[in-house]
Amino acid sequence: MNVHESEKLYASFAARGTVPAECAEEANVIVLNTCCVREGAETRVIGNLGYVKKLKERNKSLIVAVCGCMTQQADVAEKLHKRCPFVNVITGTYKLSRLPEMTEKAEKEGIFILDLEKDESVPRGANEAMRRTPASAFVNIMYGCNNFCTYCIVPYVKGRERSRNAADIECEVRRLIDEGRREIVLLGQNVNSYNDGDTDFRGLLDRLSSLPGDYWIKFMTSHPKDLSDDVIKIIAERPALAKYIHLPLQSGSDRILALMNRKYDITSYMRKIDLIRELMPEAGLTSDIIIGFPTETEEDYEATENAVRRVGYNNLFTFIYSKRTGTPAAVMDGQVPEPVKKERIARLIDIQAGIANAAAKKCVGKTYRVLCDDSDGGRHTGKTSDDRVIVFDGEARTGEFTDVIVTHAKNSKLYGKVK
Ligand code: SAH
Ligand code: SF4
Repeated sequence: MNVHESEKLYASFAARGTVPAECAEEANVIVLNTCCVREGAETRVIGNLGYVKKLKERNKSLIVAVCGCMTQQADVAEKLHKRCPFVNVITGTYKLSRLPEMTEKAEKEGIFILDLEKDESVPRGANEAMRRTPASAFVNIMYGCNNFCTYCIVPYVKGRERSRNAADIECEVRRLIDEGRREIVLLGQNVNSYNDGDTDFRGLLDRLSSLPGDYWIKFMTSHPKDLSDDVIKIIAERPALAKYIHLPLQSGSDRILALMNRKYDITSYMRKIDLIRELMPEAGLTSDIIIGFPTETEEDYEATENAVRRVGYNNLFTFIYSKRTGTPAAVMDGQVPEPVKKERIARLIDIQAGIANAAAKKCVGKTYRVLCDDSDGGRHTGKTSDDRVIVFDGEARTGEFTDVIVTHAKNSKLYGKVK
């Protein structure tokens, strides 16, 4: 999602005549768009700022701005200002489209600007974004989150859930399809609770998948508590809806899911998986898992392993639980020691690798419709409707669909050739 925020940032700078620099060393303005979902992302920002400081020492007129969810936290913004006084502008998540004005003002008046004011208004019309992927385009359908999972900082830094107007989204998607984009990825923290007052998520999928053109629509992220049978059914029915669902499980233990405030249990999650498999046997499923949530026992961890085995995800995004200040889980008793978390995540990654390798073998000999998104010297990379990546040879054009036969698999990686 942050990638798309940066694409929009590029567009707002471009609207005022600023063009992207070839590299950081040649830039007059450097913007660091941060994330604070896990500690690792925050640490990287500090590292990058060390390098930016050196650039600023060489080029005194360089303007440096830091924005995004890390600096939306007032205490973090204050600390950053003290530690990195060379930063000219600090803002958070709400005023990104105003950043070009802020950097211009900071430059002209030689002042430091801090603006963390909350602004939950939803701009009307199509979003302008400088998308650098020729085949695919991200489109926000909603902002913020109301779920308050106990480990998660997002609701505190991105505000309450709010949906964009369906007609605005449709207009943006239509334009992208007319421009030749073949893949539209709808974005929101919990897309299943999309509602603009008139249209719910099923209604939005109905409208968008009825547009003329050759394209498919993917979306993320679905919250298991809100993914309705009606949404699963329309995905199965409509050719323009890709057969892919990212459905974060987080944990396979009901006790941990309750502590996480996820509001579903493993039985209801599996019921949804079973319906997906019944209506779309070939659908691609992926998930996020947090390992080492406070009080997680070996038994809880094993329940996660079992759930992962039972579903057989295409791909799994595994995260070590990271304490986020201000969230309820950060002050829970029973924090799990780091070595235990590391050992468990290594085991789960291993299990998933086995699942993915076995699934990859089954793809050999099959033909897939692939959207080619990158080409390099006759070798291409593309994605399938169920979100598998295939590296393939033959005549293909970036940004176009091609039929590809999978010739072999190396671990979980698929290789093929144009049919
Ligand atoms: N709204 C989405 C994505 C949220 S952030 C959702 O609900 O799935 C993406 C992923 O980061 C989450 O799914 C979760 O697995 C992980 N995550 C969030 N907070 C975390 C934390 N404190 N520690 C470790 N992983 C975390
Ligand atoms: Fe965070 Fe939960 Fe909201 Fe996802 S649904 S952004 S994990 S609070």
